[in-house]
Amino acid sequence: MELEASRWLDMTWSSAPPGISIFRAPMNRRQRFVSALAIWLLGAPSLHAQDLQFESPDLDDLSWFKGNTHAHTTESDGDSSPEVVARWYKDHGYAFLVLTDHNTLTDPRLLSGLVDEHFLLIPGEEVSSAFENRPVHVNGLNLPRLVEPRTGETMVATIQNNVDAIREVEGVPHINHPNFRWAFGAEEMAQVEGDRLLEIYNGHPSVHNDGGGGSPSLEEIWDVLLTGGKRIYGIAVDDAHHFQGEFASDRINPGRGWVSVLASGLDAEQIMAGLEAGRFYASTGVEVREWRVTPTRIELSIEPDGDARYTTEFIGDEGRVLHVVHGTSGAYELQDDVTYVRAVVRGSRGDRAWIQPIFTRR
Ligand SMILES: [Zn+2]
Ligand SMILES: [Zn+2]
Repeated sequence: MELEASRWLDMTWSSAPPGISIFRAPMNRRQRFVSALAIWLLGAPSLHAQDLQFESPDLDDLSWFKGNTHAHTTESDGDSSPEVVARWYKDHGYAFLVLTDHNTLTDPRLLSGLVDEHFLLIPGEEVSSAFENRPVHVNGLNLPRLVEPRTGETMVATIQNNVDAIREVEGVPHINHPNFRWAFGAEEMAQVEGDRLLEIYNGHPSVHNDGGGGSPSLEEIWDVLLTGGKRIYGIAVDDAHHFQGEFASDRINPGRGWVSVLASGLDAEQIMAGLEAGRFYASTGVEVREWRVTPTRIELSIEPDGDARYTTEFIGDEGRVLHVVHGTSGAYELQDDVTYVRAVVRGSRGDRAWIQPIFTRR
């Protein structure tokens, strides 16, 4: 009852900034009835639900920067030189790129001719280790120098040791493709510390993003971790290797998964801070136009693409769908006792955007 009353309070009396009234979800008849009943029973809406609020990140006055944090060149097992790879991303409208060759730091300073105010190269590496023949690949972003891969006595220790190796040089780790050769899952990842980023989509055709045969998808793994209280954000990447010849679904081509980060400027430190604070969305095609969070409400709108149609699901603990909205804008009013709420937008072309979780304050 308290929650329903507060919901009425939010929807009726909150002062939305100009221009976002389109997000205001109309109450259906049942909701109006419940609200009216709540007010009759409780009197004027109280502020009981103030103890149920989102930690609201300040997203104002920031700009979107699109980037890919996982790509290979001829410095490891890619088919094109660092220059060709970087140029592909620059020519396709990306604002930043991290070249991540296996256990090789491909120095962006050698490509400084490509860098300008609209395109940034951030040094990186795919720190590539293994435990009992199962791959443990952790990307290191914004690295000042090469990080040697480390091994461990267990799968958890192997992941942890490589995360630590990246943190020791003040790089930013992201855990890559857990389902690649079914290497590890939520149980292992829940025990790792110091990691904030997990690939929930990887464009390589062999990494089993969707799980199967009883093994969870990357998105399900993510929800298990979030439900357990781990603050980890989901990123989409290309893991591109093939820039030559035919572009086909069985080849490892670029342009499939990326992130769009809210930052005050195109600068490696700002981009890293945005990623680690969850001020971004991951995408395979859907473009988010606006995203706003208040202590009780998430709002977002989608950039329309031709006649494509969109469904937004707001998802909470255990991957439960809390609310569904059709169209190019949607909002969720906090009304349930949840640990987190995230959103996924599904476009009618099969593309998606994953908006990062917002956590409730307790
Ligand atoms: Zn890998
Ligand atoms: Zn890779």
